[in-house]
Parts: sequence; C-alpha cells; structure tokens
Amino acid sequence: MFCRKNQLEKYELVCGLETHIELSTKSKMFCPCKLEFGARPNVNCCPVCTGAPGALPIINQRAIRFAIMMGLALSCRINLFSQMERKNYFYPDLPKSYQISQNENPLCTGGYVVLESGKRIRVNHIHIEEDAGKIKSEDGGIYIDYNRGGTPLIEIVSEPDIRGVRELCEYISFIQTTARYLGISDVRMQEGSLRCDVNVSIRLKESERLGVRVEIKNMNSIAFMAKAVEYEFKRQVGVIESGEKLFQETRRYDDSLNITQSMREKENVSDYLYFPDPDVQDIYIEKSEVEKIEKSMPELPNQKLKRYTKDFGISKLVSEILVKYSNPSKFLDKSSENADQAVIIANWIIGPVFSFLKTESAKENFKIGISCSEINKLASLVIGKKISSSNAKKIIIKSLENNLSLSELIKDYISSSISFDIEKICEEAILNNKKAARDYINGKEKALQPILGTVMAKTKGQANIVAAKDIIVNKLKLITKI
Ligand code: ADP
Ligand code: MG
Ligand code: ZN
Repeated sequence: MFCRKNQLEKYELVCGLETHIELSTKSKMFCPCKLEFGARPNVNCCPVCTGAPGALPIINQRAIRFAIMMGLALSCRINLFSQMERKNYFYPDLPKSYQISQNENPLCTGGYVVLESGKRIRVNHIHIEEDAGKIKSEDGGIYIDYNRGGTPLIEIVSEPDIRGVRELCEYISFIQTTARYLGISDVRMQEGSLRCDVNVSIRLKESERLGVRVEIKNMNSIAFMAKAVEYEFKRQVGVIESGEKLFQETRRYDDSLNITQSMREKENVSDYLYFPDPDVQDIYIEKSEVEKIEKSMPELPNQKLKRYTKDFGISKLVSEILVKYSNPSKFLDKSSENADQAVIIANWIIGPVFSFLKTESAKENFKIGISCSEINKLASLVIGKKISSSNAKKIIIKSLENNLSLSELIKDYISSSISFDIEKICEEAILNNKKAARDYINGKEKALQPILGTVMAKTKGQANIVAAKDIIVNKLKLITKI
C-alpha cells in the first residue's frame, strides 16, 4: 500500500457511521434479566434471552422511551408505528440464530447533527435492537457469555455525509455527549456501551458518485477510529492508484499494528432474510406520549454551550470543555448565582479541579470534597477583593490534595491575612507618603509604588496587592489637595 502525497490530495474521504449505544435500563430489552457490567458469566440469562423455543419476549418500555429521547435530541421524526423484525444470521454469540432488530419500520427516521462549522450530518434513522452475547477465548478454549445478550441497543445510522477525520470525531463526540446528558447510557467506548462501525470510501474530489465502501467493525475508541480511517483512506487511494479495484468488505482495525485487515466480504441486506418477528408486539406510540417525553428532556449540550457563552460570558474554550461533562456543569450551575461567579468557578473547575481529578471518568463523576456553597463563598470573596484569585486557587488545591474542608481553609486564610483594616492602612500609607500622593494626582502613575510599599510593609506582605491598589486609587480620586 503505497501512495504519494499528490495522489492523496486528489481524493476525498467519505464516511458514514453506524453507532451502537447500550441503553442503561435496569433490565434487558425483552425479559426481566438484570443488566450488569462485569457480572459472573451466564448468571443474567433466562429462556427469553437465550432463545428457548416458546419463550415470549415483552418489550421494555423504558428502552423505547430512551430511544425516543435520542431521536428527539437529533431532530428525528418519531414514528408512531414501528415494528421489530428478525435479522437472521448464524453466529455462536446469538443463541436464537436471529437478532431482534428493526428494518422496514424503525422507531425514528430523518434527523441530523450540526457540526461547529454549521454543516449538518444527516441521520438516516435510529432503530432499536438487542445486543448479542460475548465470545471470549481463554486458556486455549472458546467461551460464550450470554449476560450481554438481549441488552437494549439503539443504532444511529448516519448518511455518508462525513468528509474528514475531524468531522468524524466531532460527530461521534456529539452523540456521546448527548446520550450522556440524556442519561440513557454510560456511553463508555472502552466498556463497549458505545461502539461504532465506520463505513469508509474515497472518491475523486470533483466526483459526485460515491465510491465502494469498506466497513470497519466495532471501533471502541475515538482515537483508534481516527487512526483506522486515516489508514483506510491511504490504503484505498493506493489500491485505486495502482489500477486495482476496491470491493465491498468488512475489515477490522488492529491497534497494535495500526492497520486494517479484511475479515469477510460484506453481506447484503438480503442475506439476513429480515421479516417481522411474530412473537413481538408492534409498537404503537401516542403522540401525546412523545410530547410528554420532549417536555421532560434535560438541557442538551448545544443549548448549554449557548447559555454559558452568551448568558454567562464564559469563554468558548472553557465552555466547550465543560459542556462535554454532565456532573461538572451541574456543579457549576448549582454553585454560581450570577455570571461573574460562573466565570470564576468555571475556570477553577477546568483548572485546579480537573488537574486533580485527572482521568475522564473521575472528571465526569466529579466526586470532590468541596461543596457548591463553599466554592460560591470563595468566588464571592474573590469578587469582593477579599482574596486574590491566585490565593483562592492555592486554597482550592490545598483542600483537594489534603482533603481539608474548604470553609475551614477560607476561615484560616481570612483570620490570618485580613485581620487588619485594609482601608485604614491605605489611608495612613497615603498620609505617610504625601509627596508621592501629590505626584500621583498630578498624573505620575509610578508614584503609587511607595504608597503600596508602605501598605505591604505594614501588613507584612499579607495584603492583597490588587485590592490595596484599588482602594488607594479610589481614595486618591477623592482627594484634590494634599
Ligand atoms: P449495513 O447495515 O449493510 O452496513 P446500512 O445501510 O445500514 O448498511 O448502513 C450503511 C452505512 O454506510 C451508513 O452509515 C451509510 O452512511 C454508510 N455508507 C453507505 N455508502 C457509503 C459510501 N459509499 N461511503 C461511505 N459510507 C457509506
Ligand atoms: Mg453496517
Ligand atoms: Zn433474560
């Protein structure tokens, strides 16, 4: 697979994504078996999810509700009639030899994701289905764990509108954040609650026709997904440029070698012999039910981004980081009473607090020993110039790293540092430096230095220099003769 840079430049990357999200319901899609990550193999199974003849599946209402929420969040049409079908294929992780899925009549159709550039990535549809079991090879044997079999999934199928790796990452991050906000899934790629099949093709830049697509199965990290697609783009250009033909196939990404490898020729829809599952009821939804769900939905990431940047005046960069997580932004919302506080607290969250929490999951869980009211108090003190922002940051770090109460640390700080009357000390410092005061009033900025110096000397360096400067400047404004 060799190709030159000028060959790469002639082509454009085209991607469409099939995104699977495991819904975090309490029980499975069609039976009361528990959903548990990491349980002992084959303990959460019953005749329904293992496909015993005669067992009758009953649809999990909560899963439907979660799927509708995702549909609404991606501006899809919610179909008031939809239907479960059997997707027939043989593989040992599928005890029934078919998967209950949707084909002709999915729950949601249409919809889109808006990228930062304003470009829309269209969503073809969202359907519901059940997950398969897990195959593990261990100690020279092959084992199957059916605990995951029957887990409710939604599959979001995009149109092939994605044109580059950046768009791809933005699209999948958007879906992940949205699902997290809706509280419908853990969406953890490493644990498999978010998995993607990436369809990749190339075409000459001026061409309108889509090229032959290759499907890379089960990507479980955004970084790997980006690498796999970059590799696949180069490989496909190499094939075409050497005069050969691409064919539709399924490939897997090997992260240790950073290459994609062929798994099998791509199956066609007709290979699955889809037909409506006679054991499962059709799904009829009341329009009023959809409206009720829509009303109960939480604020979504893009709405929150707008609120942070426009209403609070938090910088775009800080807002974008915050919006990725749900709990940190809940903390911010609860702890700030106004925009000034929000800006300060937002910076503390993504600054000292995030450096302390380090991992992505710790940031999301946001378990810290500081309460909303404590951080609010600290922000008010900074705004009231009772504590400088750099000292406040130090106090936060001290509290986090040593597991000390923030309120106690604030109390200590205030009693040790502001036990003097800063107003009075500033006034005295002006009177002790009359010449400097006169010079300052006459326009000599630098003359402030000896006055400030006196203040710092009298307070043994404890005074907040910014606050002291403000006080002195304000006092000097009121003086006309000294
Ligand atoms: P299947 O289930 O057989 O993979 P689907 O039609 O459900 O087929 O999914 C097809 C996916 O492949 C969609 O996400 C679509 O956007 C994408 N796709 C289709 N054609 C191309 C193409 N030429 N290049 C890249 N992606 C494509
Ligand atoms: Mg597919
Ligand atoms: Zn079961």
